[in-house]
Amino acid sequence: MSSLEDLYREVVLDHYRNPRHRQPLDRVDASADGNNPLCGDKVHLELTLEDDVVSAVSVTGQGCSISQSSASMMSEAIVGKNRDEIAELTSRFKAMMAIEGNGDEPILDTDRPGSVLGDLEALQGVRKFPVRIKCADLGWTTLQEALAG
Ligand code: ZN
Repeated sequence: MSSLEDLYREVVLDHYRNPRHRQPLDRVDASADGNNPLCGDKVHLELTLEDDVVSAVSVTGQGCSISQSSASMMSEAIVGKNRDEIAELTSRFKAMMAIEGNGDEPILDTDRPGSVLGDLEALQGVRKFPVRIKCADLGWTTLQEALAG
């Protein structure tokens, strides 16, 4: 196993063991429940919105390490971002997970400033296990539902 894979595995396990943003919110402006029956993963998402910006997020749930760590990473990535920025981030993440073939190919457009997904890149190893991609996508799909509703 390469050291990069070790690093990625550590990042995923850290988010799984110490999930971010689990506190309940004082004010809930949008919420959604996600469910991945293939794996038994569940995510409950709550958002506080100031104008179009997510000012606070709460994520709770249960399921495999991929689903829960991905939702935790998502919660860190979206605070302070507006709907347009979140839509772009969501599509970039889903595109990253959808790339088929060589897992060593560059995932993101690194020529573009700010295009780095940070901890989220740790999930790119999941692409080697297609059945787990739905696990990784669950939090983001739930986010899309919350913002659409
Ligand atoms: Zn799962």
